[in-house]
Amino acid sequence: MLAARVDSADVEPVRTCVGCRGRENKADLLRLTVVGGAIRVDQAQRRPGRGVYLHPRPSCWDQAFRKRALTRGLRAPTADPSPASEDLRRLTPEGDDQSLDRGGPLR
Ligand SMILES: [Zn+2]
Repeated sequence: MLAARVDSADVEPVRTCVGCRGRENKADLLRLTVVGGAIRVDQAQRRPGRGVYLHPRPSCWDQAFRKRALTRGLRAPTADPSPASEDLRRLTPEGDDQSLDRGGPLR
C-alpha cells in the first residue's frame, strides 16, 4: 500500500523576492535575467543563466529598482534595468496605481 502523498507544496521550489525579500513559490514570482546587457522579464522562466525573482506587484519592483537589487542579484552592475520596468508594466493588469497589495502593509 502506498502512503498518502504529502501536499505537493512541500516540494514546490521557493525563491526570494528581491524587492520585499519575502519568500514565495517560484511559480508565483516573475523571473528576470540579463539579455544582451539589459534586464528583461523571463516569462517562461527558462532562460539560461542567473535569474532574480520578484513578486508581480509594483511595490516590490519599486523597492528592487531603488535598492538596485536587480543588478546586484544578477551580478550585472552595468545591465540596464529600464527594459525590465517596461516589461513589468506591460504585464501588470490595468489600474495598478490603486490596487497595490492591500493585505500586506510594508514595514
Ligand atoms: Zn516581493
